[in-house]
Order: sequence, then structure tokens, then C-alpha cells
Amino acid sequence: MSYTALVVDKTEDGVTQTIQTLDNDTLPKGDVTVAVEYSSVNYKDGLCLSATGGLVRKFPHVPGIDYAGTVEHSADPRYMPGDKVVLTGWRVGENHWGGYATRTRIAADKLVPLPQGLSAAQAMMVGTAGLTSMLAVMALEKHGLTPDQGEVLVTGASGGVGSVAVAILANLGYQVVAVTGRDANTAFLTDLGATRIVSRAELSETVKRPLESETWAGCIDAVGGSMLARVLGQIKYGGSVAAIGLAGGADLPASVVPFLLRGVNLLGIDSVMQPFDNRQKAWARIATDLPIAKLEALSTRIKLEDVTDAGARILKGEIKGRTIVEL
Ligand code: NDP
Repeated sequence: MSYTALVVDKTEDGVTQTIQTLDNDTLPKGDVTVAVEYSSVNYKDGLCLSATGGLVRKFPHVPGIDYAGTVEHSADPRYMPGDKVVLTGWRVGENHWGGYATRTRIAADKLVPLPQGLSAAQAMMVGTAGLTSMLAVMALEKHGLTPDQGEVLVTGASGGVGSVAVAILANLGYQVVAVTGRDANTAFLTDLGATRIVSRAELSETVKRPLESETWAGCIDAVGGSMLARVLGQIKYGGSVAAIGLAGGADLPASVVPFLLRGVNLLGIDSVMQPFDNRQKAWARIATDLPIAKLEALSTRIKLEDVTDAGARILKGEIKGRTIVEL
């Protein structure tokens, strides 16, 4: 038996990307064999598809950090042939062969059963970006956030993570304020449910005073750096910030005063090594709380042969919304 994959390899001509027919003997290690139906294109995939091979540690390699499909064979009692599954994280697509293949193999511990009501294509419209947003929403709720407490800020709002965060929060009844550096995306963000837009410039200045007026009931932050530091001083008493990204920088030039005088919480969100129980809860919440029709309208479907080009475009910041790959 054979399968088709997009293989990244290091040759005399540099790093190449070719679509190949491979024998099943080449499948990666794992106790569950999955017929991949859809994968997606993320920034990390763009890196792995680049001229340097990006995050790839061992060649040849099959990238694709997210995938969804149907179990073909399982040596683990938790999965049966025909079960629908989704995979994100665990460094799959970086140090384990990923989803740009019609068939793959993975450890059962790393899979999540696809929740009722979500198709494999829809799961890939969500992908790592959407899972991370939902984990952030769940963390804020766990720390007491409710829609009646006031406006919730989302930074890096036009990005993959930020845009899904806006859609989920708005769908749950929150007043969502979206921070963006791109004026042209105002309509896109209000369509997703943002009630107000704040320009990136307004929040980019380094903290001048450790405490500013209490403005936001909570925040999902994809930017980090001086913007996160600034936002911490504007959070209402007892409120929380879920830190998910570093699009604006990894430094945190902040003061501890908001933690000490306002009981503000800074919650770290990791989607890659997230334990199974929370992953499963997040996917179940995605199936019920994400307005999937909005995401579908923003998603583009491509074929395996278009993936290398899409990878280059995501690195140049030319892609808006989600790109899913039909296997
Ligand atoms: P994108 O590149 O799609 O979006 C990031 C957004 O941040 C941009 O669209 C832009 O939004 C804004 N932005 C970009 N540069 C700056 C800047 N210099 N200053 C302020 N804002 C900026 O990335 P993703 O949404 O996919 O990921 C966001 C972050 O989350 C990344 O750092 C990523 O590594 C991280 N991440 C973390 C995960 C985790 O498990 N914790 C999982 C997935 C991603 P706008 O144009 O609206 O201003």
C-alpha cells in the first residue's frame, strides 16, 4: 500500500519540496493510522516549507502541524477504524511527520476524537489557532470572567488566533474590543463580532504609569511586548489577561503593581503540550460556541500542490483567514 505526501528534503540543490508516492513502510511511528482528509497552513508550516526547512530537524520530512481525518487502523482500544479524529500540537509537522499526506501514523495519546457537529474540514478551519483561542477563553472563564463585567480586549485581532478569539467571545455575548494595526480590517473584525476597534498605535507605547484607568474586564493577548505590559495596567480589579503570543515581541517591560494593587492575573496559554482532558473540553466547546459559518466564509481551500506557495505567502503576511488543504 502506498500514500501521497509533500516531502521536504535536503539535497545538493538545497531544501526541496516535492509531492511523492511513498510506501506504507515509510509511515512515521504510532499506534493509530489515519487517512488524512484535511490539513491547514500555519506560520510554522510556512517556516518548514521555506528555503531553509525552518523548524525541520531531520530530512526527509512531511510538514503539516494540524490534520483531521478518519482512523484506518488502531492498535489502541480508544480508537476504531472509521472514527473521526483531529490532531494539533505535540510538535507534529516539526519533529514527527505531519498532515501534508493522504495517510499518517501517530500515538493514540496525541489524538482527540472529532466532536459531534464538527466536520474534518471545519476542524482545520479552526486548527491550532482556534484551539489556542478557545483555551484562552476557558482560562479567562475559570478565573471568573463573565459577559456582564464589561469590555474584553483582543490584541493582534486580525491574526489567526485573534480573529477566532473575537468570534468566540462575541458569540458568547461579550463586548469585544479588537486591537489592530490595519485600518482596512475594521469591517472584517466588526463582521466577526467586535463592538469597537482600537488602533495598535494607541496601545503600543511603553508603560508610563504602572496603573491606568480600569478599562478592560479581561484580555486575550497575541502580541506580548510593550502592548501586554500596557494592557496589564488597564485591567479592572481582579481581571485576567490570557497571554498566547508574541507577535509584537517576547520582552515584557512591565510593572508588578497591577498584580499587587489590583489582583490582576496573567495566564499563560500553551496549545502544543496541552493535556488531553483540556484539549477534549476545548474541542467540545469549539463545536458548540464557535460561529463556524463565519469562519467558513473566511477560509480558502487549496490542494497539496498549492501548499508550498501558500507557505511562502503566510510568511510574507499575505494571507487573511484560514487556509485549509484538501487531501
Ligand atoms: P498572525 O501572524 O496570524 O497574527 C498576529 C497578529 O498580531 C497580526 O495579524 C497583527 O494583527 C498583530 N501584529 C503583528 N505584528 C505586530 C506588532 N509588531 N505589534 C503589534 N501587533 C502586531 O499569528 P497568529 O494569530 O497565528 O499567532 C499569534 C501569536 O500567537 C504568535 O506569536 C504565535 O506564535 C502565537 N501562538 C501561540 C500558540 C500557543 O500555543 N500559545 C499557538 C498558536 C500561535 P493586526 O494586523 O490586527 O494588528
